[in-house]
Amino acid sequence: MTRPLYIGSEIYRHSSYGPKHPLAVPRVSTCTDLCRALGWLPDRVYVEAPMASEAALARFHDPAYVAALRRAEAAQAVSEAERARYRLGAEGNPVYPEMFRRPAISAGGVMLAARLTASGGVVHCPGGGTHHGRRDRASGFCFLNDPVLGLLAWLDQGLGNIVYVDIDAHHGDGVQDAFAGDERVLTISVHEAGRWPFTGAAEDRAGGTARNLPVPKGFNDSEFLYLLDHAVLPLVRARRPQAIMLQAGADALAEDPLARLSLSNNAYFAAAAALLGLAPRLVVLGGGGYNPWAVGRCWAGVWATLNGLPIPPRLPAEAEAVLRALRFDRAAGRDPPAHWFTTLRDAPRPGPVREEVVRLAALTLEERLSA
Ligand SMILES: [Zn+2]
Repeated sequence: MTRPLYIGSEIYRHSSYGPKHPLAVPRVSTCTDLCRALGWLPDRVYVEAPMASEAALARFHDPAYVAALRRAEAAQAVSEAERARYRLGAEGNPVYPEMFRRPAISAGGVMLAARLTASGGVVHCPGGGTHHGRRDRASGFCFLNDPVLGLLAWLDQGLGNIVYVDIDAHHGDGVQDAFAGDERVLTISVHEAGRWPFTGAAEDRAGGTARNLPVPKGFNDSEFLYLLDHAVLPLVRARRPQAIMLQAGADALAEDPLARLSLSNNAYFAAAAALLGLAPRLVVLGGGGYNPWAVGRCWAGVWATLNGLPIPPRLPAEAEAVLRALRFDRAAGRDPPAHWFTTLRDAPRPGPVREEVVRLAALTLEERLSA
C-alpha cells in the first residue's frame, strides 16, 4: 500500500467562528504543526485541500442553500428569512468571515480524499467531519456535510459497500439520514446518550442501514475498547467493506468542555489502528473537539497511528512550543496541566465496563432489529 496522505488547509489557522463560540480555537493547524514539528509530515505526503465548486457541492446540497451561504459570506449578514430557512446566523451557526470558503474547503478535502483512494490507500483529513450538515440548512456548527460528499464520491466511483464509523460525542445524524435505506453505506455512531441532537437511540437503525451506540456519561477507555471489540469491529468485519470512513471527532475526550465522556486519546488511536486493516481504503476525518490541546494531540496521534510511527513519551521542544502557543478562554485554559504541553499520548483512562455498555453491544449485534 502507498504511504498515507494528509490533507490540510491553511484556512483553518486564522479562521474562527467568533470569540465566544466553541470553534474559536485552532484545531487543524495545531495538528499539522505538531506533525511537522515531530518530523511526521514531509512535503510529499501533505496535500492542500482544494475548495469544492458549487457544482460539486450540489451532489448533496440544495443549490439555493449553497448560494445563500455564499451570499452570507460576501455580505457578512443574512436576512431574517434566510436565517429562519437556512439556520445561518442562528443556533450555533454564526455569520463569520470564511463561512462559505472554510466548509467548501473541508468538503473539497474530503472529496479529494475519496479520489486519492480510488484504487486504495489511507488519508487523514482532520478538517473534515461536519457530520450534522443538512442538504438545505446548517446544523450544529456544520454548514455543509463533508462526510456525505466524500461517501457519495466513493459511491460515484462504483463502490457499493462502505462503512462509516463515527466516534464523535454527538450522534452523526446528518450522515445517517443522508444514507438511510441505502444498502451501500452502513453508518455506525458511538455517541453520548441524552446529548444534542438527541437522536441515535440504540433501536434506531434507519431501516437497517444504521447502528447506534448511545453511551453513558463517564464512558471510559475500557468501555470504548469493549464496544470496539464486541460491536463495531464485528459489524465492520462481517461487511468486508471496500472502504471505511472514520469520523474521529475529539469531543469524547475527558478534557472536552462540551460533552461528558471520559476517553483518553488512546481510544482514538485504538479505533484507527483496528480499522486500518479492515478495508483497502480508509479515510479518517476530524469532527468535534473543543479543547485545543486535546484535539491537536489526539489528531496528531491518529496520524502517527496510521503511519505506524512511535509516539515519543516526551515531546521535542519544537512540538511543545506549538502547544504552549495555544490560548483557551475557558476555565481549563487558565491553568493547563503540564502533560498537555509535554506529551502527545494521554495516560489511559480505564474503568469498569458497566452493564449498560455490555447490553448495548449485545443489542447492536442482534439480528431481529435489523429490519
Ligand atoms: Zn461532536
